[in-house]
Formats: sequence, structure tokens, C-alpha cells
Amino acid sequence: MSNRIKAIAFDLDGTLYFGSRAVEGAVEALKELEANHIQLFFFTNNSAKTVRQIVTKLHSLGFNATERNTYTASSACARYLEQQRLGLVYLIGSDDFRKDLEHRGIAIAEPEKAAAVVVGLDFGLTYERIAGALQAILHGARLVVANIDASYPVEHGHRLPGCGAMVGAVVGASGHQPDFIAGKPSTYMLELLCSDQGLGQKEICVVGDSIESDIEMADRFQCRSILYDHFDMFKDYLRDRATSFKHIINILN
Ligand SMILES: [Mg+2]
Repeated sequence: MSNRIKAIAFDLDGTLYFGSRAVEGAVEALKELEANHIQLFFFTNNSAKTVRQIVTKLHSLGFNATERNTYTASSACARYLEQQRLGLVYLIGSDDFRKDLEHRGIAIAEPEKAAAVVVGLDFGLTYERIAGALQAILHGARLVVANIDASYPVEHGHRLPGCGAMVGAVVGASGHQPDFIAGKPSTYMLELLCSDQGLGQKEICVVGDSIESDIEMADRFQCRSILYDHFDMFKDYLRDRATSFKHIINILN
């Protein structure tokens, strides 16, 4: 079975690195996989940074990332908007998200002119921005969101509100549920990967630390997955589970 795996989609945060530190053995393991002609891809629900910034971080940690093999929720949003010809959008999101949109020819518009409201993580979200999103939706704009993650982990076991909190404000104001979700556990990034690389779903394996996000995406896509359980917390998990990168290689062999 493992012989059929041609590509691996790695989650980033909690799998390849914690904060600014690469996980022990990860860089070496990925080099070994590449030497065995496995294609590597980097998947993140991050919606606040540009693809280029994510690639730069991966590079600095020793991973062989490029803009071609890195998929972020915000860049996936931009590709969806481009595919759907939704060229004018009202954005709740960071300046870097706006750059990824503009890179795909998507322009920021006033609420009344927007074909879609796009939502990513926004550290400066205001009442006025929510009001703008409501106006756009009342004028018929679709709601396209990077992800619906409720919160994300930071240092010392603390958590901060995620993109889902921004989506919740817009949904709460408008009563309009998201028309499209780009990030995990939606399968859209895997669909892009398959069409970009000419791969089939049975040729891909997802490796990630989140059952609700990474493994759920793989299950919905009906591809293989390995739960990366760095802290050995999911002992009852009955499927492929690895507590180290050596272990991941063993499972794949
Ligand atoms: Mg993760």
C-alpha cells in the first residue's frame, strides 16, 4: 500500500514546527523522503501571512519549501475567487492576505460593489468592518472564508481567537452561513494539489497533529493520513499514528 504514496501533505504548526523551532528529526526525515522520490507539500490554515512569508519561515528552519509546494488558506481563497471570477471583494483580513488576493488579480471593493466578502484572521477587526461585510452580503455578496478555526495555540498553553471568531461575527450579523471554506478540514487545498500535480487521491498521504482539521480533511478526501502525536496523547487512536519522524518513515515503509 505504502508503495503507492507519491506525495505527502504536511501540516506545519504542531507538526513540522512549534513556534520558531523545527520539530526534532523533521528536517532530516523530509530530506530522506525526497531522496526516495516522494513529493512534499506544505499545508497551513494560516490566513494572516503571505505564502512568501510562510515559505521564508520554512526555509529558515531548513525545509525545502517553495511557493509552488506550499498551500495556505489565504492563497487557496484567492485561487477560488479567481476560478469563480469573483474579482471584487470586501475583505476582513490582514494586509498580507490582501497582497495574496491582489497577486491573483482580486481587487478590494466597497461593500456595495463586492461580489464576495472574504474573511481571514484580522487583528484589527472593528465594528465598522463587520458593518461593511453586512452591507456587502445584503447587496448579494457571497461569503468566502479562509477557515473556521475557533482559536489557535500560543505560548504557555494559551489560546487566541482564530479566523472562526471573525467568521462568527459576520455570520452573527448577517445570518448568512459561509458559501465556501478554503482551509482544512475542507478538501479544497488537496483538490488544488491533485490538479496542480496530476496526482490521484490514493497517491497522497496527509501528516498532521489535528484530528479535527488534518485527519478530517484526509478522511473527507478519502486519502491516507498519519496522525503526528508529538506528546503521545492519543494512545487510543486506532489508525496510523506517529510520535516521531522516524516513526512516520517506518509507517510509510
Ligand atoms: Mg497543526
